[in-house]
Amino acid sequence: MAVSEEWRQQWIEELMSDCGKQLSEGICEKAVSKIRSNVSYEESAQQLRSLQQTGLLKLTDLKYNPGKFFEAHRLLARHAPNLGPGFWIRFTVHYNLFAGSVLAVGNEQQVKQLEEIQQKGFLGCFGLTEKLAGVNSGGVVNTIAEWDDQTQEFVITSPEVGAQKNWISQGLVGELAVVVADLRVAGKRCGAHAFLMELRDAKGPVPNVEFGDMGRKTVGNDLDNAWIAFHGARVPRHTLLSRYGDVQPGNGGTYVSKVKGLTNMAMIGQRLFSGRVAVAWAALTFTRKLFEMTRAYSDHKKCWIPKNSTLTEVPQLQHLYLRADETLKKLENFVGSCEKQLSDCLQKDEIPPMALQEAIASAKILASETSIDLCFRLKQDVGSHALMGDTGFEQMDFLQACKFAEGDSRILMQKLARDRVRISSPLGSSFLD
Ligand SMILES: Cc1cc2nc3c(=O)[nH]c(=O)nc-3n(C[C@H](O)[C@H](O)[C@H](O)COP(=O)(O)OP(=O)(O)OC[C@H]3O[C@@H](n4cnc5c(N)ncnc54)[C@H](O)[C@@H]3O)c2cc1C
Repeated sequence: MAVSEEWRQQWIEELMSDCGKQLSEGICEKAVSKIRSNVSYEESAQQLRSLQQTGLLKLTDLKYNPGKFFEAHRLLARHAPNLGPGFWIRFTVHYNLFAGSVLAVGNEQQVKQLEEIQQKGFLGCFGLTEKLAGVNSGGVVNTIAEWDDQTQEFVITSPEVGAQKNWISQGLVGELAVVVADLRVAGKRCGAHAFLMELRDAKGPVPNVEFGDMGRKTVGNDLDNAWIAFHGARVPRHTLLSRYGDVQPGNGGTYVSKVKGLTNMAMIGQRLFSGRVAVAWAALTFTRKLFEMTRAYSDHKKCWIPKNSTLTEVPQLQHLYLRADETLKKLENFVGSCEKQLSDCLQKDEIPPMALQEAIASAKILASETSIDLCFRLKQDVGSHALMGDTGFEQMDFLQACKFAEGDSRILMQKLARDRVRISSPLGSSFLD
């Protein structure tokens, strides 16, 4: 579905007149071009609350209007060489990982809750990664959610330090979280499940949940990243996102699988596909913008080579600009095609076919690794300019985040190779037929 020009302008520029929530300077931040990163993480969170309250992008658009969802991410990424990664990560965690997980594994009632969350300007985080898991997050989930049949609650616990959630974006400000934990019912392990739980209410953090700050980062300090430890936090039955599996109370509790062959974790993993397409676009958009900004400088920078000329005409830079443009065009086409096919699956509520899953993983790896390569080359070839503030080069760690977000390049490459080996027939098997 095409995005209208009017919507794009509003998303980028519109400063709404009825701004209710204002930052400390009294400036109303409701459009992407007004977002700032030289603010505290609380102020940055306030910018996202205001942006979502405009209703320009709905928390359900990932399913019903994916074109808007991806365009919103892209337009925001164009500001990344100025803003760094903080706000972009905050945004995608809220709209894709948090709301997207509710859309993927929530029941009808839980999906409906997203409307109220948006209206209230509440923010959500996504608690998957644990201290022991790192890039293998999702593959290792040691947080436990034990069903208590007497009180009809789940008791969420981090049994050891390695099981504490780690790097959780928006974890110090979010009212809500989708927390992934290993479900235990009547002593039986039912695998990783997602819980939509409250982290804070008007009085502050909920009981038995401990938060800590991950500390200062090279970039993106307008984003809060938290470690979270659960010390027997009690959450009601309805917090289990239960589209594919639920717990029936009585006699200690019974786990009920609602759709044969589909696990909750596999469906949570669906979010990775939209995340990977959004991250691939973010890397390419950052790179395009950094090249544009640098080109605007080198076109006017006088240089002697050995006649008076501009820096753009230095052969290695001239060649790099050409190579970057050609490479980016190819990758933009590839990611665009992945987006189109994935959007179709999202709207039809279908799991992407294996070939598309592989294409999306490849697009994410190629887009981030090629962007790192091109931007690093540009930094080497443009001279002193790359050392100056506000040139975009100081935000290059944006691409570092693209490399590991939604599947680290190395882990994804291993997965692609593993899947290929699994589907291939044993050598010589065709002669046996
Ligand atoms: C800014 C930021 C925001 C984040 N937000 C969230 C969030 O909101 N929610 C959430 O759940 N998580 C979040 N994460 C966690 C993120 O998704 C990664 O899981 C995490 O950053 C992994 O990094 P690590 O250095 O701890 O990984 P490690 O596991 O320590 O790996 C370090 C490096 O070693 C290599 N490596 C590790 N294991 C292997 C292996 N088996 N084979 C080959 N190579 C390997 C990889 O190349 C990797 O780059 C965030 C992380 C950051 C930095």
